[in-house]
Amino acid sequence: MVEREGANLRPPGVRAQSCFWRMKAPKRRQACFGKDAGGCLRSACDQEIRRVDLSHRAVINRRHQTPEARMPTVLLKFRKPQIHCIRVVALLFSLVTGAAANARGAKVMAEPIPDAIWAYMQQRSWRAELPCPGRDQLVLLRVPYLDFDGNSQTGSLIVAKSVAKAVAAAFQEIYDSGKFRIYRMSLIDEFGGDDARSMAANNTSAFNCRTTDRGAMSRHAYGMAVDINPVQNPYREGNLTEPEAGRAYDEPYKRRRDIVGMIVDGDVVTRAFARQGWRWGGHWKRSVDYQHFSNDGH
Ligand SMILES: [Zn+2]
Repeated sequence: MVEREGANLRPPGVRAQSCFWRMKAPKRRQACFGKDAGGCLRSACDQEIRRVDLSHRAVINRRHQTPEARMPTVLLKFRKPQIHCIRVVALLFSLVTGAAANARGAKVMAEPIPDAIWAYMQQRSWRAELPCPGRDQLVLLRVPYLDFDGNSQTGSLIVAKSVAKAVAAAFQEIYDSGKFRIYRMSLIDEFGGDDARSMAANNTSAFNCRTTDRGAMSRHAYGMAVDINPVQNPYREGNLTEPEAGRAYDEPYKRRRDIVGMIVDGDVVTRAFARQGWRWGGHWKRSVDYQHFSNDGH
């Protein structure tokens, strides 16, 4: 027997509410889920709601829940202060790791270092035992960039306030050109302030209050140097190449303009920094540091 929509769909044992059950199913749903549900239709509607599929029911139920009730189960385990705490951590995480940018047309933004970031920097990129610049001498840049898949992202860089304009202008020019890709741009604090770990992760970074291998204060210690895509643009001195993965790119004959993330003389990256008076480590003589740009050439 072919089942018709209408009265004969009435569930067994339900007291007839004839006007309701004579309606076709779509009309019944409209009556139940629309504003006119209620009154004498209520019990019939309750039966009808049980008939709709689970996902549809879930949608209907969610409309009547409080925002907190709509949260995923895992979040329901936390009470309000903990939820606030999660939001703060999420903000910190997005600042440290970089989050998706809105779209092309995004601008580099500068802001004072937020409390949470400053606390996170202690004994990571900011070391009490070194003459590091004060918090008010540094700024946080939120930098739009294209990742290796060509997607817009927003990275985080900490630089000296005195060079923030120049660094922002260079990265803005790079982003606006659409011609250069950056693998990752997280604060080096995510790697415990460890330059080797940051380089191995192909992370682009700036401020890190540290000394060089020779014991002098690095230009990074003042927030006046930037390292970009260390794997494709390694540091090379004699037999030493850092990071290790950079060995594939550490000789002039291995360096080609068409390799994603690679900086070559005369490209948009070297031109953008040169325009700000910054110099490139790719021009050094005794050693070469393809990832490195600084305001004084060191
Ligand atoms: Zn560097």
